[in-house]
Amino acid sequence: MAKPRVGVYPGTFDPITNGHMDIVLRATRLVDHLVVGVARNAGKGPIFTMEERVAIVQEELIAHHDELSSKVVVQPFDNLLMHFAMSVGASVIIRGLRAVSDFEYEFQMAGMNARLNPKIETAFLMATDRYQFISSRFVKEIGILGGEISHFVSPRVADHLRRRFADNHKASVQE
Ligand code: ADP
Repeated sequence: MAKPRVGVYPGTFDPITNGHMDIVLRATRLVDHLVVGVARNAGKGPIFTMEERVAIVQEELIAHHDELSSKVVVQPFDNLLMHFAMSVGASVIIRGLRAVSDFEYEFQMAGMNARLNPKIETAFLMATDRYQFISSRFVKEIGILGGEISHFVSPRVADHLRRRFADNHKASVQE
């Protein structure tokens, strides 16, 4: 029997958006098992801790249980992506491509990773057109200013964001 194909979909997921979920669903058609790797990425100044981001992804996976069954798991990592990919037995790294703007960064990352381990391929997927423009960064910026975010994230993620913004607001008023 052929060895099951394992893929890793790494990212910051601060928080997971409809765009990310679309890529997760597409990736499951290419691999037998998918590991959504949540990077610590402190440099990006995430608004959710790594543990919170993992829990939020987990909630989304549970909500899509019928489509994703037991194919997808979520795991945190704070080591080198290639080392993480090897540790879970992955043969492919999945990345999402939005506009041309993602290309330069993704191109460099794929090239460097190919040098680190030529046996692991990077595959790029595109989300469906209505989700292509979504980014966690803009969702946070819109949400912080009280804008409507329900087109971009699930109702569960929107609740997490609203609560986080309310907490941050309370903290800033108390300062
Ligand atoms: P990173 O911090 O590594 O950029 P992100 O959490 O922002 O991580 O995104 C993880 C991956 O998902 C990246 O490959 C990113 O390009 C991709 N991605 C994010 N949003 C979308 C989207 N709306 N459509 C397609 N790919 C996306």
